Amino acid sequence: MNAPVPPPTACGGIDLHQEHGQRAVFCGLTGIVWLHRKIQDAFFLVVGSRTCAHLIQSAAGVMIFAEPRFATAIIDERDLAGIADANEELDRVVTRLIERRPDIKLLFLVGSCPSEVIKLDLSRAAQRLSGRLNPVRVLNYSGSGIETTFTQGEDACLAALVPDLPRAIDTAAPSLLVVGALADVVEDQFLRIFAAMGIADVRFLPARRAGAMPAVGRGTRYLLAQPFLADTARALEERGARRLAAPFPLGAEGTTGWLRAAAEAFGVSDEAFEAATAPGRARAETALAPLREELGGKRVFFFPDSQLEVPLARFLARELGAALVEVGTPYLHRGHLAAEIEWLPAGTRVTEGQSLDDQMDRCRAARPDLTVCGLGLANPLEAEGLSTKWSIELLFTPVQGYEQAGDLAELFARPLRRRALLEV
Ligand code: SF4
Repeated sequence: MNAPVPPPTACGGIDLHQEHGQRAVFCGLTGIVWLHRKIQDAFFLVVGSRTCAHLIQSAAGVMIFAEPRFATAIIDERDLAGIADANEELDRVVTRLIERRPDIKLLFLVGSCPSEVIKLDLSRAAQRLSGRLNPVRVLNYSGSGIETTFTQGEDACLAALVPDLPRAIDTAAPSLLVVGALADVVEDQFLRIFAAMGIADVRFLPARRAGAMPAVGRGTRYLLAQPFLADTARALEERGARRLAAPFPLGAEGTTGWLRAAAEAFGVSDEAFEAATAPGRARAETALAPLREELGGKRVFFFPDSQLEVPLARFLARELGAALVEVGTPYLHRGHLAAEIEWLPAGTRVTEGQSLDDQMDRCRAARPDLTVCGLGLANPLEAEGLSTKWSIELLFTPVQGYEQAGDLAELFARPLRRRALLEV
């Protein structure tokens, strides 16, 4: 049964609600699908059940045929019954894996619901194996459905990396760290803009290779590229790094606000900032103009999924003229999203958490023009005549920065176009 809904709380100018109850979301294991492509010499070993293996295989699709750098060590009855020593089994599996795959430089032991329920201590296992398999680093984090929702798996992974990062010299000049897995092409675009502004020392977390992870220290100023990195941010602060408050680089306006935060922190002049960003802004504007006609006035409903919902809703409302019916998010980090909340149209209904049936009722009653939701809800809602956008694509597609602003708007326009074509 659903828990009673607490009364709405005021938060900036938005109409914030919190809900508890049945949820339809991914667990954090799903993050492996994009993280293993980003860190090119890392391997993700899920310690879980056949359910976990099945989830990863379904989410990764055809990637499972390309000698991927992820797998599941399945906890079987012998482990559960205590007949086999689960730690010995794990050591055996990992040792064989590293022997067979000398390309692996960083191994993540990824916790799951079953490994947590039987209290398998993966952090001790990681320490033990790191010593034994040196120079291969072994770290651990939890991607279980009990602890993490979808993108929080990336947060847990990056937070596990932070204590292991090299120490930056405290007296060195401040450096800029961009935090959150971005497509390589997006990183390269941002690097060029930062260089044009005169900010040369820019690093990314995660790096593309285990041996190239950025140093961190009191001189580190970091920009979050993703809104779901609460634990990573905390771990970075513990190492002395300081966050630059900014909106997220989605759409032209978000990208400009995000870049401006870095420009201000690094003393970039207005002229240099203008010169570095004007061409990108102009290209984004040209790409967005025709899409504004398609998306302007369209009523959009977001189910909670990735924590990207608030910045995406802000982009749709302010740059494309869409109307927001409801913006669901699994978790709302008030601090990291402060600039985004301020930019949302006053009175926008934001729902943190989920009570699936109640939310479905509201969605059906509102009959939005576009519903952004997970794969599990998309087809049923389509069958009821509602246009849907699969939210998972927003993680698998490069969407940040000026050059991708048009592609991002396209992702939302396409389902509307398809429905219009089918209805003719
Ligand atoms: S970690 Fe938990 S929620 Fe995720 S697939 Fe495994 S059992 Fe399911």
